[in-house]
Amino acid sequence: MKKQTLQAPRGTHDILPDEQPYWQFILKRAKTILDDYGFEKIDTPIIESASLFVRSVGEETDIIEKEMYTFKTKGGDELSLRPENTAGIARTYIENGMHVLPHPLQLWYFGPYFRHDNPQAGRYRQFHQIGAESLGDENAATDAELIFIGYKFLESLGLKNLVVKINSIGDQSCRPQYIKALKDYYRTRNKKLCAKCKGRLKTGILRVLDCSELPCKEITKDAPQIVDYLDAECKAHFRNVLEFLDEVKVPYILDSKLVRGLDYYTRTVFEIWPEEKPDGSGLQLALCSGGRYDKLINLLGGPKTPAAGWACGVERVILVLKENQLIPPEPRAHPKIFIAQLGEVAKRKSLLLFEEFRKAGITGKTSLGRDSIKSQLRIANRLNIKYTLIVGQKEALDGTVILREMDSGVQETVPIGKILDMVKSRLKS
Ligand code: AMP
Repeated sequence: MKKQTLQAPRGTHDILPDEQPYWQFILKRAKTILDDYGFEKIDTPIIESASLFVRSVGEETDIIEKEMYTFKTKGGDELSLRPENTAGIARTYIENGMHVLPHPLQLWYFGPYFRHDNPQAGRYRQFHQIGAESLGDENAATDAELIFIGYKFLESLGLKNLVVKINSIGDQSCRPQYIKALKDYYRTRNKKLCAKCKGRLKTGILRVLDCSELPCKEITKDAPQIVDYLDAECKAHFRNVLEFLDEVKVPYILDSKLVRGLDYYTRTVFEIWPEEKPDGSGLQLALCSGGRYDKLINLLGGPKTPAAGWACGVERVILVLKENQLIPPEPRAHPKIFIAQLGEVAKRKSLLLFEEFRKAGITGKTSLGRDSIKSQLRIANRLNIKYTLIVGQKEALDGTVILREMDSGVQETVPIGKILDMVKSRLKS
């Protein structure tokens, strides 16, 4: 039988040690800003009942129709790998009776999400989101605060000239009139729409607005705009969000074609995009997307709870950091010492020595499995380590250590009780 090469499934990636500084940097910055604004961390399961997503994201959306990984368990339950987390947050809010907690309840999360999408740059089948949700407040200030925090978080990574795109898609009281107007508009123009959009006319007409196919874009140019159909309350809410953003100096673009592909949104929807380069190069996809979902918790059986939130795609953020040559600081201090050993007694002594240095805040490396001093020195050199402590068979017995300065190769024998202080003062100088 032919041996098959093992590979990560299409659209998924290993996050190798070289990549980890990006992840740690981004998470650290997210944690700092979200902690500062009073958001509390929450983790929910990666699997949830499939019906949770069908009921919240919407049966006729791309995510549910095509992209969700759903399976039957041995016990007969139908579960899905989560494609997003707002639904999970709403579920845990209801299940854990969080409505009794002080509101707004501000939560944040980080984890993997799964969509069976067509893999390409910035679009994967397993990807990671950092998300923030604010539950229990319908005030426009909440929407603006969330956008502000998302914007400041991305800026804190070094990203500049970010673009906030914003729209209001109204609510149940005014959106039906708009949908009717859209249906009337496309009825006489549907022949030129792409096949997908022809289907969307029946199931999700709002998505025709943000279709990227050229003929659809052309037809949509003159389509009715939602702002003209917002009722007085939705209009006032939207105006308040924008005035708040003006006040806190977050620049934005009104984008009447921005609708987002999830059914639960009401009123404000927004996306934060990377800077558009004059030559058209670079990733042009939303880094952070979100909006208000005032009806979701009630729809799932919980009390009426207005809410809003966003999620940032970490892989996309990393792509843009790399495009802009923004290099994160190393999360770990560079190892300062290497401990090389020869023989069984020396191996044991080395581990204790390593622990003594670690406790004193001096990080190091060892290779306890190796028995050749030469090969251990080679590793120390490759790692660019300044000092190697050699514990050979003789040294292990007479309680000494050889201290080798790697650049010059100069060695001296030091009593084991004095080695920590000596290395400390050498490192200082
Ligand atoms: P959404 O849950 O669709 O509102 O997406 C929120 C954010 O997650 C987007 O702005 C992207 O940054 C990221 N994202 C969504 N889908 C993918 C994907 N397939 N691959 C990578 N990132 C994604």
